[in-house]
Amino acid sequence: MSKKTLIIGAGGVGNVVAFKCAMNADTFGEITLASRTVSKCDAIAKNIQEKTGVQIATATVDADSVPNLVQIIEKLKADIVINVALPYQDLTIMDACAKCEVDYLDTANYEHPDTAKFEYKEQWARDGLFKDANIMGLLGSGFDPGVTNVFCAYAQKHYFDEIHTIDILDCNAGDHGYPFATNFNPEINLREVSAKGRYWENGKWIETEAMEIKQVWDYPEVGAKDSYLLYHEEMESLVKHIKGLKRIRFFMTFGESYLTHMKCLENVGMLGIKEVEHKGMKIVPMEFLATLLPDPASLGSRTKGKTNIGIFAKGIKDGQEKTVYIYQVSDHEQCYAEVLSQGVSYTTGVPAMIGAKLMLEGKWQGKGVFNMEEFDPDSFMEELNKQGLPWKVMEMSADESRCVN
Ligand code: NDP
Repeated sequence: MSKKTLIIGAGGVGNVVAFKCAMNADTFGEITLASRTVSKCDAIAKNIQEKTGVQIATATVDADSVPNLVQIIEKLKADIVINVALPYQDLTIMDACAKCEVDYLDTANYEHPDTAKFEYKEQWARDGLFKDANIMGLLGSGFDPGVTNVFCAYAQKHYFDEIHTIDILDCNAGDHGYPFATNFNPEINLREVSAKGRYWENGKWIETEAMEIKQVWDYPEVGAKDSYLLYHEEMESLVKHIKGLKRIRFFMTFGESYLTHMKCLENVGMLGIKEVEHKGMKIVPMEFLATLLPDPASLGSRTKGKTNIGIFAKGIKDGQEKTVYIYQVSDHEQCYAEVLSQGVSYTTGVPAMIGAKLMLEGKWQGKGVFNMEEFDPDSFMEELNKQGLPWKVMEMSADESRCVN
């Protein structure tokens, strides 16, 4: 019988997931894209029909409301819910899936709207609920988190007996021509990059000031770029699941212009997430800023250049020290030509589709709540090559590095 797929969230990532599910309609069957604003779903559905000939349905949903979610999941008799709304909706969507006994997948971990802090605690706490409902929840099936977790699992399986250090490297060398814009949801993006940095070493989390640690990494097909240490959510699960790990860090590239704008916005209070009074109205500065900034979904047609995201791992194999760099390069213009989205949405949406595909095909199976590195990475790596995100492995000697400062 044909499967029924519900995608929630019609932003930049939702567009790619809907396109890619439609391009794999044999697996995803009847596809519905639902979001707060149905006109955005309709516009995506029209593009999909024109470019692929596949028809998808659209609907309105308030993903903050469990009853509303239950109603739509039951009405559609969905086999899987792919959550690409915002991290604020993770818990309500998970709870609705548990009530309806339907599998769940997302790309970003839960964040409370009033606290700029993201962690897996509340999603992991639903493991029992998911087990009782006999369903599977796959957390963080985007690129980072997502593919980066799978790269770590792949390195662990094929290249190392023990991995000692991992640096996750996220480089976006795309240029959209605006002095300042974010490549995915502005609020989520700015909360992430303005927060304190954090990395894990010898069993402890070490906190840094935001952007305090800078290194220059040389990214294949892109070149050397200033890269800043950030806290990123996949580290929380990887420290639990990668054998022998002594240190894990995450670096992301930022240009001078982005950092100068961000510092200035922070200094004047525009990154605030608490309500302030403005002419008798309550506003949240960060939300207002997000309204002013270009919609990330609109950057697609203007963005040129490449992304390069990967993991740089050092460890031991057969008693010898070694270094492996696994990475993926995407070209913004090629992504746009295929699915009308820039590379950041593309590199997130394709892995979301792949995770859901492996679940529907029964290749990744389980009852409860899981992170990506808990499954056999090979089928996911194979799909990446087939579905538009080909990757490469560079094996290096123990003392070689791509960090150039
Ligand atoms: P956008 O802001 O472009 O899209 C989010 C969509 O969710 C919008 O269409 C919005 O509604 C919809 N939405 C928000 N709140 C609700 C609600 N209460 N009910 C129904 N729909 C709602 O974000 P992106 O597409 O850039 O990002 C989507 C997700 O992907 C985010 O969680 C982000 O953190 C994650 N992400 C993950 C990455 C990874 O590599 N793992 C990288 C980049 C992003 P509306 O219909 O009104 O527009």
